[in-house]
Amino acid sequence: MQFKLKNNQKISLEILRKPKLKNINLRITPKGVVVSANKRMPLADIEAFVLSKSDWLSKHLKNQEAQEKKRLFITGNEVYFKGEAFILECVEMQRHDVTLELCEKKFLIKMPHNTSQITLQELFNDFYKKEAVMHITPLVEDWVKKMKLYPKGIAFRKTTRQWGSCSSQNSLSFSYYLMKLPLHIIEYVVVHELAHIQEKNHSTNFWALVEEFLPNYKEVVKKLREFERVF
Ligand SMILES: [Zn+2]
Repeated sequence: MQFKLKNNQKISLEILRKPKLKNINLRITPKGVVVSANKRMPLADIEAFVLSKSDWLSKHLKNQEAQEKKRLFITGNEVYFKGEAFILECVEMQRHDVTLELCEKKFLIKMPHNTSQITLQELFNDFYKKEAVMHITPLVEDWVKKMKLYPKGIAFRKTTRQWGSCSSQNSLSFSYYLMKLPLHIIEYVVVHELAHIQEKNHSTNFWALVEEFLPNYKEVVKKLREFERVF
């Protein structure tokens, strides 16, 4: 339903009825505001509660909107590559195809009018994938020699929640969005996944193995978490 906050801002509100819930919960999701309340709570009470949270909701919805805008492929926004932020410049032209050029501190996109965000996302996906195959494959080969741990295969995937994985069959998989990160962090992910060939879980032995090859891995993990907060 549509709901008006104190400042007349319209929000999309979803009310979930939970039989066992004693309190009332409010959260912001990518689709809007969701409130969970007990079945017996009158609608007027729920609405009064949401209204009382107007300032908080207004502030957080604004933040969310700003975050979403940052992720759009539009001129002036930043796109990460090898740990550096590059400014995006999208130039609309009389043409049929979309091209991507990396020049100095800028990603220059030449595109037809009304190019969709999906098209641009795919353009960057292709770019990251090509770069990942080119940079990460030799990196894995280097570390295979150093660690003497041999994967069954290497694949690159469009995963956003996982930087890398190692299957029970010792096939390694890497997200091609790793190319957003600096090379020394990519290197840590490579060592991490190769170490899983020997140690399948995150045991003390596992971390000792990682540390043997990357003594400063803890600092690198800290840096990785910082990047994750930006992306
Ligand atoms: Zn792991």
